[in-house]
Amino acid sequence: MSSQPDIFETEHITLAHGNGGRFMREIISEIFARHLANPLLDTQADAVALPMPAGEIMLTTYGFTVQPLEFPGGDIGSLAVHGTVNDLAVSGARPLYLSLNAFIEEGLEIAVLDRLIASMARAAKAAGVQVVAGDTKVVRRGEGGGLYLATTGVGIRDKNLKLGLNRIQDGDKILLSGPIGDHGIAVLLAREQFGLHGDLKSDAASVWPLTQALCPLSGLRFMRDPTRGGLAMIAHEIQHATQLGVRLHEPNIPVRDAVRSVCEMLGYDPMYLACEGRVVAVVAPDQVDAALETWRALASGRDAAIIGEVVKNQRGVMLETQLGGERLVDELEDDPLPRIC
Ligand code: MG
Repeated sequence: MSSQPDIFETEHITLAHGNGGRFMREIISEIFARHLANPLLDTQADAVALPMPAGEIMLTTYGFTVQPLEFPGGDIGSLAVHGTVNDLAVSGARPLYLSLNAFIEEGLEIAVLDRLIASMARAAKAAGVQVVAGDTKVVRRGEGGGLYLATTGVGIRDKNLKLGLNRIQDGDKILLSGPIGDHGIAVLLAREQFGLHGDLKSDAASVWPLTQALCPLSGLRFMRDPTRGGLAMIAHEIQHATQLGVRLHEPNIPVRDAVRSVCEMLGYDPMYLACEGRVVAVVAPDQVDAALETWRALASGRDAAIIGEVVKNQRGVMLETQLGGERLVDELEDDPLPRIC
């Protein structure tokens, strides 16, 4: 007698796993429903009623095509939780529920799918969210990168919380919660096409502990997670929305030595690299020290720093460099690292 579920009778996903019959029922019940189990998902209803605490209901959605599917510090399963949870968190919303769409390529090893969904379940548990609805599709060999995931997130936000680019003012300070570029470089090294290896891990994690901690500050203006396009992208978004200038102090921007050396070798700029567990916050100058102290007291904010400010007497995004000079930070045009999330 083996305790192994029937699903492992075949080694790879076949088109039959998407045909609506026994094989499809088996991957849903023995992989997705087994790992992600919770009372709402377990109802197996066509739609689910979500118990919601009082507040503003917030919704976001995100698609995941990262290659490779597994990398140091994460995988597409955990990333599908963190990416979506973090867009709620930086909006000041407590993440509560996720839906999941999985597009599985014919030929994917069933053991890999099982591992990725188990990882997703662990990330969801750690982030305090439940996956309450889902759908799976199987696409023919060559039509997908092994696995694509899409998650929609629902969260709840205090009605009185006012955050937004439109709240940013001249003189506001810019905070960063930790080192930039870890995720981008960890995924890049996992591709092995450069023959480089390192012990660098993705920073992918829920940022809700960081954002929740700042929400009580009345001087908190805006938060965003530097994912694709990195810190440079957020600086440009602030600049475009406010028509104020942004000054960043390079010596204050935390970058790990391992990230810096890979960037130097391959010609990347950490300013443009994706993070999946960091937050940029804009805070009124009289509360920036309190915000920094709040973040540094948290494990994920230990390396937080004040990295710049919003100023009216300047155009564009200016970086004060390590050497005491300054240079304009251009807006990203080419994607330096595609399929990073
Ligand atoms: Mg975001």
